[in-house]
Amino acid sequence: SRMRFPRELVEEIRSRNDIVELIGSYVNLKRAGANYSGLCPYHSEKSPSFTVFPATQSFYCFGCGAGGTVIQFIMAKENLDFMESVKFLAQRSGMTLPERQTPAQSREMAIRRDKKERMLQMHKEGLLFSKKPLKVEQYSNS
Ligand code: ZN
Repeated sequence: SRMRFPRELVEEIRSRNDIVELIGSYVNLKRAGANYSGLCPYHSEKSPSFTVFPATQSFYCFGCGAGGTVIQFIMAKENLDFMESVKFLAQRSGMTLPERQTPAQSREMAIRRDKKERMLQMHKEGLLFSKKPLKVEQYSNS
């Protein structure tokens, strides 16, 4: 099953997980001017080419080219997919992901539910998915 989070929610999760603080819990970062640098967690190196940019809340490794936001960092570091990474960061920042859906999503769900109920009803009535030919007795007994 595919799940999607609204973009605003992803943005909020990103803003609640400061990249310097997050990456700093995995990598020993040193301040370098406006940015921070450290040894890249994705490739082996002796001098730090891994850089964190607080202003853009992003990271980039000049050694291996790895880069992105907190979400990409966690995806690669924790071996998660995008959705799992978003959930990981939400939990980390104490956010509860809303059960509530957007009006468009609820509408879509309602339509799907109605369709499913109709199908179930038709199935019960033997109008659908019947492999055997319908027999008249089946109805006269009930
Ligand atoms: Zn690297």
